[in-house]
Amino acid sequence: MTTTNDAPASDFIRDIVTEDLKTGKYGGRVHTRFPPEPNGYLHIGHAKSICLNFGIAQEFGGLANLRFDDTNPVKEDVEYVESIQEDIRWLGFDWDDRLYYASDYFDRLHDYAVQLIKLGRAYVCDLSPEEMREYRGTLTQPGKDSPWRERSVDENLDLFARMRAGEFAEGSRTLRAKIDMASPFIVLRDPVLYRIVNAAHHRTGDTWCIYPMYDFTHCLSDSIEGITHSICTLEFDNNRRLYDWVLDTLNVYHPQQIEFARLNLSHTVMSKRKLLQLVREGHVSGWDDPRMPTISGLRRRGYTPEAIRNFCQRIGVAKTESMVDIALLEHVLREDLNKRAPRVMVVTRPLKVVIEDYPAGQVEELDAVNNPEDPAAGTRRVPFSRELYIERDDFAEEPPKGFFRLAPGREVRLRYAYFLRCERVVKDERGEIVELRCTYDPATRGGDAPDGRKVKATIHWVSAEHALPVTVRLYDHLFSAENPNDVPEGHDFKEHLNPHSLEVLEDCRAEPSLAQATPGSRYQFERLGYFCVDSADSQPGAPVFNRTVALRDPYARMQKAGAK
Ligand code: ATP
Ligand code: MG
Repeated sequence: MTTTNDAPASDFIRDIVTEDLKTGKYGGRVHTRFPPEPNGYLHIGHAKSICLNFGIAQEFGGLANLRFDDTNPVKEDVEYVESIQEDIRWLGFDWDDRLYYASDYFDRLHDYAVQLIKLGRAYVCDLSPEEMREYRGTLTQPGKDSPWRERSVDENLDLFARMRAGEFAEGSRTLRAKIDMASPFIVLRDPVLYRIVNAAHHRTGDTWCIYPMYDFTHCLSDSIEGITHSICTLEFDNNRRLYDWVLDTLNVYHPQQIEFARLNLSHTVMSKRKLLQLVREGHVSGWDDPRMPTISGLRRRGYTPEAIRNFCQRIGVAKTESMVDIALLEHVLREDLNKRAPRVMVVTRPLKVVIEDYPAGQVEELDAVNNPEDPAAGTRRVPFSRELYIERDDFAEEPPKGFFRLAPGREVRLRYAYFLRCERVVKDERGEIVELRCTYDPATRGGDAPDGRKVKATIHWVSAEHALPVTVRLYDHLFSAENPNDVPEGHDFKEHLNPHSLEVLEDCRAEPSLAQATPGSRYQFERLGYFCVDSADSQPGAPVFNRTVALRDPYARMQKAGAK
């Protein structure tokens, strides 16, 4: 896996484009398209395809279209059409005025179908779906010709017109290409071009009751739009033969289909069918649940478009399928957030600290650095007073070996403030620790002890009186298994759902500057990770924070270990 590669991308697809420009194959044009079916929200796999299609157009001075591949009225919806556009724009790409719908071509596609019938290369078939499956044969056995294969052109034209007119029941007839039932490629065994579907379409309404199949629609849409390089995922490798057959038979402009390996990411699923199941069955709060691999989920989680684009560049484009470790995505995200996210202090599991020798009622405003990676980010003031909160985890009554933070009789540094020493533990009647009684060293303000005394840890804190109560949501991988799709017969991918993928901490305390935090803004909570203000559940003055990613970077560790 390549890691630190910020050079312009190069891969086998860009090599093909470069070569085609050199030979003038398309008259010096480069024109790609991104063709989602509006039957779900876009996910990180689509981002790979978007970066590729729009990226190539940008790099080679070409154009990229957005085309909705909306040939299945039953599964498609305007909600998806809108979310897809929003997500592509958010990723940083633009189709200008080139927004198309395959459904805009329904008239032309119908005319092409009629043309195929007239050429004797398509026929109306009365086999039922089950019969058609029987006739199709298998990978090892050739198929059988349909009894309807030799209908005359006139009969086919008449029947196709009547299909269109709504005279026949759904499933009773199809229009099929007349190719070769013995072809070693099943996709060429007289594939269906049109089927009867009695459903309203989200754009064409009730105009049609016959709808063109994907394979027939896609190549002709590419051709109509003058696409040069039609980039798709590997599973369309065999379909390329049909793509070429349709365009060659109709003798129309012929783009080149090129297949690449789809993105698979560990600890998640990418199939829209499965994502839809998670949404419908309430395993997540929606398509934009911050645990979802959807673009809208990643956005809500706090991902930046830059991080997603960098990730897509790092994984590159290849011809063989592989599984990318989600740790790489998170690593790239940390690199980006480290540069841009202001640091703040938030205590997620508060433990009260009373500094006995600090004057009651006194408040100091201490200087805190906003981002050590970005000097221009400046500093801010953080109030300090006699009563603070620290993380419960930063205190141990009986510190185990290797625990260097606060313990009875022990001293630590409070970030940007003073050395603090724990004198006593206060417990309730059940023996639970409710408060620490501490003292501080006024000579250590904002730095080291003048006597050279050292502490082994620096911890974060907030002033109790000034703290803003906030809710923090900790997210983990949606699935515990590396590959949730990998289940034995009779089992379901949802069995791999991680029961601990969401932990809600309702009683957190943030430094007061966060009262102004706006939805979508990102922070590093010192020592805890990167967090983002949730755009759906936050109220003015009461932000809800989503943990985008923890600070610990398993990918960087792996890299280091590998380098040794
Ligand atoms: P499904 O989830 O049902 O397989 P799909 O993701 O293929 O559907 P489309 O809307 O057809 O849905 O995808 C639009 C484009 O995105 C296609 O060109 C497809 O090849 C590409 N694409 C989809 N998934 C991935 C992926 N995981 N990696 C890279 N490209 C993808
Ligand atoms: Mg698809």
